Amino acid sequence: MSAPLYRVAAVAALLVLMSGPSGAENPPDLPLDPAIQRLVNAVSTQQLRTTDVRLVGFGTRNTFSEGQRGQRGVFAARDWIAGQFRAIAKSSGGRMTVAFDSFVQPKTAEIPRAVEVSSVIATLRGDDPARGTVVISSHFDSRNSDGNDATRDAPGADDNGSGTACVLEAARVLATVHPAATIVFATFDGEEQGLFGSAHYAGTLHDARADVEANLNNDIIGASMGHAGESSPNTVRLFSEALPHGTVPARVNALGSENDSPARELARFVKETAGAYVPPMQATLVFREDRFLRGGDQESFSAQGYPAVRFVEAHENFDHQHQTIRVQNGIQYGDLVRFMDFDYLARVTRMNVAALATLALGPRAPQPTVLVRQLGYDTTLSWKPVPRAVGYEVLWRSTTDSTWTHVQSVGAATSATLPLPKDDVIFGVRAVDAAAHRSVAAYPTPTR
Ligand SMILES: [Zn+2]
Repeated sequence: MSAPLYRVAAVAALLVLMSGPSGAENPPDLPLDPAIQRLVNAVSTQQLRTTDVRLVGFGTRNTFSEGQRGQRGVFAARDWIAGQFRAIAKSSGGRMTVAFDSFVQPKTAEIPRAVEVSSVIATLRGDDPARGTVVISSHFDSRNSDGNDATRDAPGADDNGSGTACVLEAARVLATVHPAATIVFATFDGEEQGLFGSAHYAGTLHDARADVEANLNNDIIGASMGHAGESSPNTVRLFSEALPHGTVPARVNALGSENDSPARELARFVKETAGAYVPPMQATLVFREDRFLRGGDQESFSAQGYPAVRFVEAHENFDHQHQTIRVQNGIQYGDLVRFMDFDYLARVTRMNVAALATLALGPRAPQPTVLVRQLGYDTTLSWKPVPRAVGYEVLWRSTTDSTWTHVQSVGAATSATLPLPKDDVIFGVRAVDAAAHRSVAAYPTPTR
């Protein structure tokens, strides 16, 4: 793209830009960090396949199979996952710890009895105590046509062996990295009965006043062909919610900020970052919490006020999800390994690694404000310095665009005045560190 986009300002405090919104159509490509590219490239299709096949080998991972003995059932799978994390943790120099998050879920109207739910959580401690936590997650429980059937097979190759293989693989390639933020690799139990495992864990984080910067949830990410044979090998959907927990809708209406919740900014960040590191993969943003009639563990994080997004394959085949294995009218039902595309799963896993590594190694997002003291034709943004940031970028787009269309570096300045009316566009500000990692963009809060 043209040079004026990345013009660096010499003025420290206040920058007056002469270029208008017609300066460029699209932001230039993100600079790539070779260290992150190596992590992305280290994702192994074969390892993902091995993990997925092993998970299917437990027969069923239904939450109510917790009492089964031997190599069958959800707790056998849980113990195997924990063993995998512990083996991975050996390469972390003592910085990765592995724990169960276990509790008894009381009976509800939706489930037949109380049940012990037990998630597996691996935590890679960050180097910067001032930073928060980024969480990559999946659920490892599975189900067939009857959500409470603990007996018949429920292979769950795609739902959600795929996401669990992704989380384990991300842990493997990131275990030796020294991130600024703490990274949690979470595999949840009890998702299919009501997000029990993730609700408990996210609630525990909230009670501990944990500073969760982001949740990347992965659930059904391993097949590239839809029910009618349509194929989208290079796209994945990324769901994000509109209104953060506790939002006052009238204020959102007044500001026109319904498309700029922390979850939406996170989704834009993931799309841009993952797309840069894993061409030709593209995330298709879906501005919705989840699909109709379906939910996911990202909702547990959203409910606690944490920014959360969900990866889902581009086209689903509902004959292969939540189905007891059978052939009926010539159609094979069941969530079987044969329907998986492990090369696709590897590409989606690489997207996760690119976004997760950039979140954890890069700077935190600023907390900008936009000045609205009086009517005016330009826009003044300001923010406090972000630790380790060496510069900042102002982004903008029209109110009807879904992603940022313009970016302007302002150097190390912590305020900027742009000759653009704040009435007509949406602004964001992001931090840049010495390795050129970009933070998630932040929506400016109006201030007088
Ligand atoms: Zn699922």
